[in-house]
Amino acid sequence: MAKDITARTVGFKAGERNVFFHLLTACNLSCRHCYINIPQHGSQTLTATTAIRWLKLFARPEKQSNLILLGGEPTMHPDLPEIIRAAKSMRYAVTVDSNGFLFHNLLDRVTPTEIDFLSFSLDGPDAEINDPIRGQNVFDTGTKNLQTAVQMGFKTSLIYTVSNLNIDHLHLMPSLLSEWGVKRFFIQVIGLRGKPASSSPTNKTQWQVDPDHWLEIVPQVAGEASRLGIHVTFPKVYLDPDEQFECAGQVAENYFIFPNGRVYQCPLCEDYPIHSYEIENNRLIQHEGINEDKFFPLSIPEGCVMNKLLQPDNIEYLADGTPRHRISCCLLKQEIIPQ
Ligand code: SF4
Ligand code: SF4
Repeated sequence: MAKDITARTVGFKAGERNVFFHLLTACNLSCRHCYINIPQHGSQTLTATTAIRWLKLFARPEKQSNLILLGGEPTMHPDLPEIIRAAKSMRYAVTVDSNGFLFHNLLDRVTPTEIDFLSFSLDGPDAEINDPIRGQNVFDTGTKNLQTAVQMGFKTSLIYTVSNLNIDHLHLMPSLLSEWGVKRFFIQVIGLRGKPASSSPTNKTQWQVDPDHWLEIVPQVAGEASRLGIHVTFPKVYLDPDEQFECAGQVAENYFIFPNGRVYQCPLCEDYPIHSYEIENNRLIQHEGINEDKFFPLSIPEGCVMNKLLQPDNIEYLADGTPRHRISCCLLKQEIIPQ
């Protein structure tokens, strides 16, 4: 029987909470599109004791809460297994987002039941495409560790950040993922944050994918991955005319925690000191002043206000001055679940 491969838009699920916790900002790699911004996010590595205290601030055992442990490279944290176990005891569903290097023998220090998903990042189907973006030998190391993790029984996912540098190679990913035994595929769009934002205007256009190119390639590749039995998630980016715009900052619970104590609700705001909350002396407090949350209720024809303010280059206008597409919230996803 043919599989249903219709993409459904995943609004912000009622009650679902996502806690993106950057335990450190240090990393062994220096990917060209890295969004980590040390002056804004801090350079400290949280101790396990502090990380566990902070986890308690966001724990709501009565609600579905997804915890994504990241960095920098989270596996560089020597006490990551202890933090994972503490998070599980608080009933978080735990994902570790690694660049693939899996330091400190992570696979031997946790069991597959202690991690809900072990996520790897690759930006190309081979070293020739991936390594100029992410670094030398990253493809070989990441794919070797990924396959070891699958063999050991870990559920794995893969994140591919689509830019102009690799969009034309995305179609090669589904068969590779299927061969490697990856269960979930997250296709992300490059954002103009961190390093891409600070590059020259010429380089900016080089990173960004134009709407027609995105719409021509990404949904088809997602459909193909789904036909191979992989659960695919990709950003909505451009809203259809009949779709309602919603800002996740208004209707969902997403927290992006950095080691300097800043807590954002919107990932687009992370390069600016406009975080909604901060952690001081292990207490979560409102950040005073005019912050990201003041922008969330604003309604404009272009859709996402922060996109209009920070990434105006990716909005196209028609001759009459109206936007060609409304830009969705960057947290709004489409998902195809294999039947
Ligand atoms: S692996 Fe992640 S944190 Fe490290 S440089 Fe690459 S994008 Fe940045
Ligand atoms: S990306 Fe835009 S729509 Fe989404 S939370 Fe941020 S401001 Fe709101």
